[in-house]
Amino acid sequence: MNIALIAHDSKKELMVQFCIAYCGILSRHDLCATGTTGKLVAEATGLRIQRFLSGSQGGDQQISARISCNEIDILIFFRDPININHREPNESHLLRLCDVHNIPVATNMATAEALIHALERGDLDWREIVRY
Ligand code: PGA
Repeated sequence: MNIALIAHDSKKELMVQFCIAYCGILSRHDLCATGTTGKLVAEATGLRIQRFLSGSQGGDQQISARISCNEIDILIFFRDPININHREPNESHLLRLCDVHNIPVATNMATAEALIHALERGDLDWREIVRY
């Protein structure tokens, strides 16, 4: 499965902790991330991660493009729900595309854990079928 990771600055440590906790599962999949998120997770876990541009440079739009091409199976996007940021329109677009393409997406730890357990059980294997 192709898993994309994005975390706002206030959620980056949470993303690192999540990836450390589920490193064993994540290591069996293809990971990509926005620039800084990918760098921090790779440094903390040793996971191989394809890194796109930083979110502020368009990395979230690179991930959007891959979602449009059906190249992402799961998006884990830890957003800061308190502080509004100026990239909100791009991020709404990213989440809209997940709905358009029926991509499982988690925006908080509780849902991310549910998704990772579903992934491990094989509940998301249907994604492999719809991708081809
Ligand atoms: P970053 O991008 O991982 O490069 O920081 C995520 C974000 O938009 O904050």
